[in-house]
Amino acid sequence: MGRWGHRLFESDHDIDVAGDLGETLKGNPLQLSRMIHQTDMLAPQEARIFYQTDEYKIILEQTVAEVRAQLDSGLGDCFFEKVRAHAKKNTFDGPYQIIIAGALMMRAGAKIRPKHIQYLRGLVPTIHCNHRFALPIFDLGFREPGRVQFLNALDNYVAGTPRDFQAPSCFTCGKSEVDLGFAPKKCSRCRGAWYCSQKCQKAQWANHKPACIPLEKKFSLNV
Ligand SMILES: [Zn+2]
Ligand SMILES: [Zn+2]
Repeated sequence: MGRWGHRLFESDHDIDVAGDLGETLKGNPLQLSRMIHQTDMLAPQEARIFYQTDEYKIILEQTVAEVRAQLDSGLGDCFFEKVRAHAKKNTFDGPYQIIIAGALMMRAGAKIRPKHIQYLRGLVPTIHCNHRFALPIFDLGFREPGRVQFLNALDNYVAGTPRDFQAPSCFTCGKSEVDLGFAPKKCSRCRGAWYCSQKCQKAQWANHKPACIPLEKKFSLNV
């Protein structure tokens, strides 16, 4: 199914990587992929309904707290270094796996060394980024606004405060409710893009215009 959304963790690939990364530390499996859920429109109806319940919210918060405790017990640095070492052998997808590892540590709200945050920041420009939907074989790396969302998360990251990469974030500056104090607003035309302000909406319009198709004109669910 490839990607169904714009943000990090809105593709099968990202979720697969998260699952694999959970096995990085031998003898200490991390429940990384359980911190993210499929918001795929094609997921079974019951699953989508369950993800919106308070019951799931509690389970998710517990999972995030458990992973944070595991990483902060000393495993976090080791995890990050190991992912970096593995990436050297996988020049194809390795650098992006480091990005996903960083995003998962921020998802957990775990402590991340300043040198690792710095490393992630430097890595971002080397990762391929598509601005729009692309065929799966060309759809490697980030899809904007996933990149700007990730950079904003690095800039504003506070250990102990988990960052939910699945919350709507501004397509221009990457900020989400946790940064703004209010949720970004949906583009009123296509309802498929979010902006924190008119200034950000205007700045992105040339890029967004081709994708801004009013909802009623979209005949395929997964474009
Ligand atoms: Zn913005
Ligand atoms: Zn739009």
